[in-house]
Amino acid sequence: MPLILDGKATALFIRQNLTVEVKRLSKAFGRAPHLAVVLVGDDPASQIYVRNKERTCAETGIVSSAHRVDADISQKTLEELVGGLVEDDAIDGVLVQAPLPRHLDLLAVQALVAPDKDVDGFHPVNVGRLSIGLPCLAPCTPAGVMELLKHYNISCEGKKAVVLGRSNIVGKPMAMMLVAASATVTVCHSRTANLAGECRAADILVAAIGRPRFVTKDMVKPGAVVIDVGINRTEQGLCGDVDFEAIKDVASAITPVPGGIGPMTIAMLLSNTVTAFRRRMEG
Ligand code: NDP
Repeated sequence: MPLILDGKATALFIRQNLTVEVKRLSKAFGRAPHLAVVLVGDDPASQIYVRNKERTCAETGIVSSAHRVDADISQKTLEELVGGLVEDDAIDGVLVQAPLPRHLDLLAVQALVAPDKDVDGFHPVNVGRLSIGLPCLAPCTPAGVMELLKHYNISCEGKKAVVLGRSNIVGKPMAMMLVAASATVTVCHSRTANLAGECRAADILVAAIGRPRFVTKDMVKPGAVVIDVGINRTEQGLCGDVDFEAIKDVASAITPVPGGIGPMTIAMLLSNTVTAFRRRMEG
């Protein structure tokens, strides 16, 4: 049986530490950090994510406000809403829940969130700072992966890491963080030749493609660390991008879905919100 990398327990530990820090900062500055979340439309998964964010914020002592607007909102009205939240001095972090309805331009909206309030870490300035190793608000999901590895003392140094997926929110920043941690990194995507062979070479395999149980046992090197970022809703319930049941026989460590990277992502969002607040207050 491999080591199960318990994201739920690790995230709880992180949130408990954050609760102490939020208490200290609230006392020092006379108010708690405030996260504003914009939710467009009624996508069921997004509604669950936003409710989870509200609940965990409340448990940690962070103020949150959800701004729910109809799916037919215009780009201009959405930009005005986000712009107003960014300008509000009492708000420390602003995020726009993805995905947006097709007529809206997510990148344009995200670019409006000032880098110091960009708790999702998606603004080009934060992406640039991450890539050259400067302090930044880093994207929550890959940051959660790195934090979970750190929590279990799994070193990346000198290891061959393979990232499956090249999205702006997971795959690309994940690769940058692994490089920064001195792994030798390969990024795979839908055009990769010999994908299974690339995966089989990995000491650390991160799957983030959104395909249920895509990574099978024959794609995993015995003893590899397998991180499953995927969240897929199937008729049999929630599952990851990795065939957990088969791969647990070969991996040395593996994340479950649910209870792996999902809770770590939320913990990193709260951590970014606290960091944004501290930096704004302490200057
Ligand atoms: P995207 O759809 O933006 O990107 C998917 C990536 O996977 C693309 O780079 C795509 O390649 C690649 N890909 C898709 N199919 C294949 C295939 N058959 N073979 C090889 N590569 C493939 O997804 P996200 O990065 O946003 O999310 C990935 C997964 O992670 C999803 O399941 C999502 O729900 C989950 N997720 C989980 C989070 C969490 O908190 N745990 C947070 C964010 C996402 P190409 O670029 O060539 O099209």
